[in-house]
Amino acid sequence: MENFTFKNNQLFAEAVALTRIAEEFGTPCFVYSRAALEQQYRAYEEALAGCSHLVCYAVKANSNLAVLSVLAKLGSGFDIVSGGELARVIAAGGDPARVIFSGVGKTIEEMHAALDAGIHCFNVESPLELEQLNDVAMQRNVRAPVSIRVNPDVDAKTHPYISTGLKENKFGVSMEDARLLYRQASTMAGLELIGLDCHIGSQLTSIEPFLAALERTLLLIDELAAEGISIRHLDIGGGLGVQYRDETPPAPQELIHAVRQVLGERPLTLVLEPGRSICANAGVLLTHVNNIKTNGEHRFAIVDAAMNDIIRPALYQAWMDVVPVKVNETAAVHTYDLVGPICETGDFIGRQRELAIDNGDLLAVRSAGAYCFAMSSNYNTRNRAVEVLVDGDQVHLARRRETYEDQLALENPLD
Ligand SMILES: *Cc1c(COP(=O)(O)O)cnc(C)c1O
Repeated sequence: MENFTFKNNQLFAEAVALTRIAEEFGTPCFVYSRAALEQQYRAYEEALAGCSHLVCYAVKANSNLAVLSVLAKLGSGFDIVSGGELARVIAAGGDPARVIFSGVGKTIEEMHAALDAGIHCFNVESPLELEQLNDVAMQRNVRAPVSIRVNPDVDAKTHPYISTGLKENKFGVSMEDARLLYRQASTMAGLELIGLDCHIGSQLTSIEPFLAALERTLLLIDELAAEGISIRHLDIGGGLGVQYRDETPPAPQELIHAVRQVLGERPLTLVLEPGRSICANAGVLLTHVNNIKTNGEHRFAIVDAAMNDIIRPALYQAWMDVVPVKVNETAAVHTYDLVGPICETGDFIGRQRELAIDNGDLLAVRSAGAYCFAMSSNYNTRNRAVEVLVDGDQVHLARRRETYEDQLALENPLD
């Protein structure tokens, strides 16, 4: 988080005071740091030096074109989950040949679009999807590059943060089914089997679940090799956690070092799909306190950002750090619930926070670079927030604030 630091009691993004950004662009406003994005991406690249690899940034974490273009300029690949994300990668100057297409519900149209673009690989998650992709490729007289996404059923009791790598989750296919699917796929003329994929969840704060999954996937790769089905790349997914509060997730270097040790000398290209760990701590959300009220004992600070801008607290009971952008030396410290203007009790950004603030103060919600704007909506007909990208002392308008005209333009009242 060293790209968002206090200087003279004021929070900066790189060399730019956040108060200046709020004055110029208004609030709520997402602010991203180019240096922070680059630093996190490079941590992966450096740890992978000397090893055949492809880092595919998971677009869904933050799909703004400015963010994607920063990573595209560094040569990043991209992990997409929709045709829309493919369009974004292309518009941001990303190389389709470095794109991996994940997701349980690809449509036939999306398969065509991805083959048109010449993506690197489809991560296939079911027998029917395998057949559909084979049919689409045959119609086009090409072979679709394929990985099968396995669900390693990593024990949740010992690894409570895993949420997509368990049998009861909708993702991937079981190890048993994967074996059959590989055999089947190896006979299909429209497919080229190139990899094996496994993504076990998000916000993982220890290496053990990754290694448990790795052990199982390598076993399968060896069994397949013995049957003459050879896999060129192993995609270990994304999911590395970040620090929001007091978590102590491993750094990318630690994860990759451990993975490389297990892989040993196997001739496998290592593919990764990090999202959150690249961009979460590369962003903050700026919001003004619009009102302070008390209901009995309870003190509320009503801010101009809401659950439509930042749904993580409401959706995941996520704890997000909230700090005053400028230290308020005259306000008394009180315990506040920080809530938005939306008509839902779940509309809160933080609860029971000790803050020295007055009405009108500017706050920053930290670690808001991932799964915040990307999950935002127009609920309550609120315009989605403006997004800016700071680069040194420069501020780039990454997405202008929506207007009511933008929102109404797509709709037609009955005459
Ligand atoms: C969401 C997702 C990722 C990224 O996960 P993070 O926790 O943001 O790193 C990677 N791969 C797949 C298939 C995903 O669904």
